[in-house]
Amino acid sequence: MPPSGLNGNQKRHRKIGILEVQGAFQEHKVALMRAKTCMHVKTELEVVEVRHPDHLVPDMDGLIIPGGESTTISLFLKRNNMEEPLRNWIQTKGHVVWGTCAGMILLSRFTENQKDGGQPTLGMLDTVVSRNFFGRQVHSFEAQVTIKSPSLSTNIQMDASDSKCHGVFIRAPAVLETTSSEVQVLAVLERTEQNDAVIVAVQQGDVMATAFHPELTEDLRWHLYFLTMIEKAKEQA
Ligand code: GLN
Repeated sequence: MPPSGLNGNQKRHRKIGILEVQGAFQEHKVALMRAKTCMHVKTELEVVEVRHPDHLVPDMDGLIIPGGESTTISLFLKRNNMEEPLRNWIQTKGHVVWGTCAGMILLSRFTENQKDGGQPTLGMLDTVVSRNFFGRQVHSFEAQVTIKSPSLSTNIQMDASDSKCHGVFIRAPAVLETTSSEVQVLAVLERTEQNDAVIVAVQQGDVMATAFHPELTEDLRWHLYFLTMIEKAKEQA
């Protein structure tokens, strides 16, 4: 019997929210729907918009905070009294969250290069994040990212192991520092000119963040990884 306790013919149901303020809602949804077909247990996914505290329901299993402008998103959360409910939802056992780009900034406990006057964050990742680490919009770029986690490097499309993935960086942040040993580095960007490796994806328990946008590529590994994080969290909840 599969670990979920379902027999082979039953489908399990998972609900995933996407914070719908700005950013690639549709692209994330399409990628999730494609990734679920790679799961071992048949899974029915319900993808819902999250724009109001009432949308943060206990039976939602995962949440994606997409890219955009972190200051705009945090202002939206403040205006709609969503900050506390969102923190509480994330901290509830069995709930998994993934922030891409601006989402990474929002999840981080510490932010450098904040907008004047500071910007509130959700403080869910023990990291120091630099907001526009790679420069302004014109400095957006695409590059190969080196995957550090073995569970991510299995390339489901190629049915082979591949430790690189294509990274789309749009005015992207980067992790300058991890401030707890609980934070696992999932991927780095190796820069030959600077001779360094910048942290661009991390995970701390049920919280994941990527500085780049996997939803804008054909690579489904990150979405599949997010779905498997949800299954793990449910087993442990
Ligand atoms: N650097 C941007 C910010 O401050 C994030 C850019 C993005 O999400 N594409 O929010």
